[in-house]
Amino acid sequence: MSTSTTPSSHALQKVTVLGTGVLGSQIAFQTALSGFDVTAYDISDDVIATAKTRFSELAKVYEKEVPAAAGKTEEILGRITFSSVLADAVADADLVIEAAPEVLDIKRKIYAELAEAAPAKTIFATNSSTLLPSDIKDATGRPEKFLALHFANKIWQYNTAEVMGTTETDPAVFDAVVEFASQIGMVPIPLHKEKAGYVLNSLLVPWLNAGLGLAAGGYAEPEDIDNVWQIGTGAPFGPFRAIDIIGLNTPYNILVHSTPEGQKLAAWLKENYIDKGKLGVASGEGFYVYDKPAD
Ligand code: NAD
Repeated sequence: MSTSTTPSSHALQKVTVLGTGVLGSQIAFQTALSGFDVTAYDISDDVIATAKTRFSELAKVYEKEVPAAAGKTEEILGRITFSSVLADAVADADLVIEAAPEVLDIKRKIYAELAEAAPAKTIFATNSSTLLPSDIKDATGRPEKFLALHFANKIWQYNTAEVMGTTETDPAVFDAVVEFASQIGMVPIPLHKEKAGYVLNSLLVPWLNAGLGLAAGGYAEPEDIDNVWQIGTGAPFGPFRAIDIIGLNTPYNILVHSTPEGQKLAAWLKENYIDKGKLGVASGEGFYVYDKPAD
């Protein structure tokens, strides 16, 4: 059990983000934009080198799309420290936000290491889209300071932050994380109890899978499925454009660990897209072709 005092939002100054992929980079940048000191951790120096390029690309997007970042992206990047040594990355962290791959075993292993490496004061938050914090909490060594803080892709634009604890999460920790989410420009959505997929993915995942089922089943082409959704509902994009934005690996990882029907969709995604390097917007091609990465 932790012996530190009850946290307040005021205390959450030093933030470490684990994983510098699609979401981790966005969370780190958005947090630094809001004036916090951020450490971005990933597993090796090679991955960190890739991450630095990713952050530079992200800075250009912020420069263009986020008025508060215009002319300040160098200063924002200056608040981000990169590390591939977990013990250093979390040594003085008030809050660790984990955005590692959506694989339960990987996440549990990370939390077991974190439990040892982080000081007692540190709150752990997972950005997992599909796992429940209850699936992980015993690995953290501090279930009272563990909860989910779930962002949506393109957090500067789709700025919800779903906050979901377990029955063991300290309400003061929950409140501090809700407050932190506000401080970094998110609209916090507190969930009253655990729900796989939170609010957003309880709606989104069945929609994406329905689209994949239609295409993988040979009923219609991805573009036509997107078109009918857009024309029929007035929505700005359909499921395949959404998967391109999310990145194909995330739905793949979810589906490959799901039902036999879901595994068929995963195999279809792998064979037709992932194995061909079509990973979505970030790789320049997914279901659609993009001019250049990170557009
Ligand atoms: P990603 O594959 O783009 O990035 C994952 C990162 O984690 C990589 O940089 C990888 O090197 C790193 N990593 C691997 N092993 C690690 C370890 N042991 N410790 C720390 N980092 C490690 O994935 P992503 O799309 O950013 O997703 C990350 C998390 O965010 C997942 O839990 C996912 O469910 C969630 N999420 C994703 C989206 C989305 O749209 N992509 C949206 C909301 C939430």
